[in-house]
Amino acid sequence: MNFDFKSTKEYAVQQDAEDILASYKDRFFFPQHQGKNAIYFCGNSLGLQPKTVESAIQIELNAWRDLAVGGYFGGKHPWLYYHELLTPSLAKIIGANKEEITVSNTLTVNLHLMLLSFYKPTATRYKIIMEAGAFPSDQYAVETTVKQWGLDPADAIIEIEPLAGEKILHTNSIIGTIIEHDTTVALVLLGGMNYYTGQLYDLKKIASAAHQIGAICGFDLAHVVGNIPVSLHDWEIDFAVWCSYKYLNAGPGAVGGIFVHEKWSTNSQTPRLGGWWGNDEKTRFKMEKGFHAKPNASGWNISTTPVFNMIGLKASLEIFDQAGIQQIRNKSIRLTSYLEFLLKELPNLPFEIITPISIDERGAQLSLFFKENGKAIHNKMQENGIIVDYREPGVIRVAPAPLYCSFQDVYQFYSILREHF
Ligand SMILES: *Cc1c(COP(=O)(O)O)cnc(C)c1O
Repeated sequence: MNFDFKSTKEYAVQQDAEDILASYKDRFFFPQHQGKNAIYFCGNSLGLQPKTVESAIQIELNAWRDLAVGGYFGGKHPWLYYHELLTPSLAKIIGANKEEITVSNTLTVNLHLMLLSFYKPTATRYKIIMEAGAFPSDQYAVETTVKQWGLDPADAIIEIEPLAGEKILHTNSIIGTIIEHDTTVALVLLGGMNYYTGQLYDLKKIASAAHQIGAICGFDLAHVVGNIPVSLHDWEIDFAVWCSYKYLNAGPGAVGGIFVHEKWSTNSQTPRLGGWWGNDEKTRFKMEKGFHAKPNASGWNISTTPVFNMIGLKASLEIFDQAGIQQIRNKSIRLTSYLEFLLKELPNLPFEIITPISIDERGAQLSLFFKENGKAIHNKMQENGIIVDYREPGVIRVAPAPLYCSFQDVYQFYSILREHF
């Protein structure tokens, strides 16, 4: 894509004037630095608080105060169905039917629930393919799962490594590994986007290769949901999980999400661990023997809806509904490309951008790899009111989330760096 970027403040001001999402910045609270909004490029770690969250919490506090147990069936948002208020907006963001989505628990717990349903090793088909350097929690989940089945992680887990001297994975290598291990593979499980490099994988092609060898394909979409629109249903992804506190701005520890493709979710016989909230509502309160899973993804819900963990997500999804995920993505492409353009104008900073240059292979984040002094440079950024994070080894992740970051923020980030380095 060709952009007409300029490294001037006037240019950034004009870009903001033309940005149809510019006013969304005012809907969020920013951490303060010396009396002004900090430059917050850390929405890939924890999204900012929408200003509407507090009053939304107050509504449910009042319902609890005034209706007590009656709040399950009465009030503005009966708690019995609270999680269902979230699925229509999520359906648009991840490209799924309402029947394929539920919210429940947090990411790693949901990953374990999916592994229980979809990883069924046999004597010959028992391997799990994942990316080398996957997010630690995902690595632990897979390692402990295969041990639980009495298997040796060194044998059962295949890690796809970048080519020598490279940091990102080529789609061809991923597909090559899948085809190479053929009928020994039970499950292909990747992060949709690598948290460290910011590389977005080709979910559709990977799922198709996994299905070609008869394996199941699941994704951890922690860095994808709310960042990049996807079409999980059409791409025939078997399952996916994500958290809501990164690009979805739902707050620390907010409820996570589960996608189970219709071909599995509408079958109440698909194996899973049951609990009363996943049971058909018609029989749930009969307190009888026998679990009857709901014929949709909500059949994976287990416990009573954690309402207070969902309010932030509901408030945030209202903003996504208004802005539209495609518009958000359109702005994001420009904003992150502008960041890349300006970073390249900083010859004195000794880093390499390890995130792919192609916009089809990345989202809001650019990962800057420093061979040395990464931590010191990160500290210096923080002293100057720039909030970004540092991940060992040597990477500063810079993620201008398009809902609340502006072209002027990106320009200011650049001018602070130019001044100090
Ligand atoms: C953020 C993140 C997680 C976090 O998992 P929790 O269970 O919510 O703590 C897991 N996997 C990936 C890839 C992540 O980026």
